[in-house]
Amino acid sequence: MAKQAHQPALLQRLPDRVVEVLREIGELGDERGFQVYVVGGVVRDLLLGQITLDLDVAVEGDGIAFARLVADRYGAGLAVFERFATARLILPDGLKIDIATTRRESYVKPAALPAVTPASLQDDLYRRDFTINAMAIQLNPAAFGQLHDPHGGQRDLRAKAIRVLHEESFVDDPTRIFRAIRFARRFGFSLESSTRHRLEEAAATKLIQELSGPRLCNEILLLLGERDARKTIKSLVRLKLLRFLHPRLRYTKNGERVVAVLPRALAWWKKQSPDRMVERPLIYLMALLSQAGPVVLQSVIERLRLSTRHSKAVQWAGHKTNRLLHVLKQSKNVRPAEIYRLLADVPDDAIVLLVAKGLSLRTEAGADRLTRRLSQFLKHDRRATTILKGEDLKQLGLKPGPRFKTILDRLLDARLNGNVRTESDERAFVHRMVQKPG
Ligand code: ATP
Ligand code: MG
Repeated sequence: MAKQAHQPALLQRLPDRVVEVLREIGELGDERGFQVYVVGGVVRDLLLGQITLDLDVAVEGDGIAFARLVADRYGAGLAVFERFATARLILPDGLKIDIATTRRESYVKPAALPAVTPASLQDDLYRRDFTINAMAIQLNPAAFGQLHDPHGGQRDLRAKAIRVLHEESFVDDPTRIFRAIRFARRFGFSLESSTRHRLEEAAATKLIQELSGPRLCNEILLLLGERDARKTIKSLVRLKLLRFLHPRLRYTKNGERVVAVLPRALAWWKKQSPDRMVERPLIYLMALLSQAGPVVLQSVIERLRLSTRHSKAVQWAGHKTNRLLHVLKQSKNVRPAEIYRLLADVPDDAIVLLVAKGLSLRTEAGADRLTRRLSQFLKHDRRATTILKGEDLKQLGLKPGPRFKTILDRLLDARLNGNVRTESDERAFVHRMVQKPG
């Protein structure tokens, strides 16, 4: 039977308001005759002395009916996922709670989503990925704060070990391969030796290939979102997992150098554009792909079924940023308008990668020229506009048409290059242009 320990102090580490909500949820559980628990990551984090407000509640009984009850009590927003017997609540003060029916899962086919049947807390903890994630704290008043740890989660937290609950765990669900690396990186833990063995075995099969694009993509981005992504990538390479992105994808020395300087490129970006957020995990993925050719990039985009935004960024990972790098690092003078035209449609994430590529060069002078030019573009030129607009051209007697855009583009170039400043400069420039044929 489960090892149990009464640890009311554990929950008290959460903010008072959250403890109050959890107490009330426990009372509602008693009213309904349900046993209710917080489970998973939040318990692990509490034991590690960390506060997560990602609350997962498990109910022995009808979780969705219970979620409706809680939503009514608080006037919370509610989204119900019948197929998974789960519901998500958002309380008026913003607190998010996921409520699920405790379940047993059976894997009919490896790597596919499991079939779910309601079951006891014991079953529910047994279907989880690692011992450290397989603990629960009861919320019903008589046992409020009681810890359920049937698989030695506390022991493994102390031992800093990631351990699966049974031998087939990675085969049932190969996303756990990535999850194991993710938690190991995040907490500085090691894989327990038999777990490591099982993970390596599963990684050597084709199981990961069976994962859908969005699931694989999600795991990879979550993984690259942990601190020190450079080491994470090393683990992926060591386990030969890049082959699931593309069989010909290689992590070259150049790629490694780009990854190594990415933290500096990100810091540079934050200083330049503090109010424009970039997606760090995405940029690490781009760095990983930075030496790949267009065919491999396209195939990775399709394999991961990337969103439009992510696809656009990843298309810039390879030779397209190399071309920009070539122009922007050169010592020869490059006119601001030319830089503007090169960079106007480049996603921010690709600019960060470009800086990393620059910093990874051995020529410091080239990197300096690159960052100086980018800085000028980001801080000034990107926002430049002409004083005259289409309306003004009409008033000058010009007929609207494709020529308008050409004229306004040239005018903007002239402004960027410092050839026009005032409105009358602009009018004179337009006059000269329309007098010239073509
Ligand atoms: P994080 O802090 O990254 O959110 P977490 O432990 O909360 O970590 P989630 O992905 O939010 O992880 O999942 C919540 C819980 O659900 C986990 O703690 C684990 O018990 C269980 N879980 C999630 N994914 C799996 C999986 N693939 N296999 C088994 N159990 C899982
Ligand atoms: Mg979580």
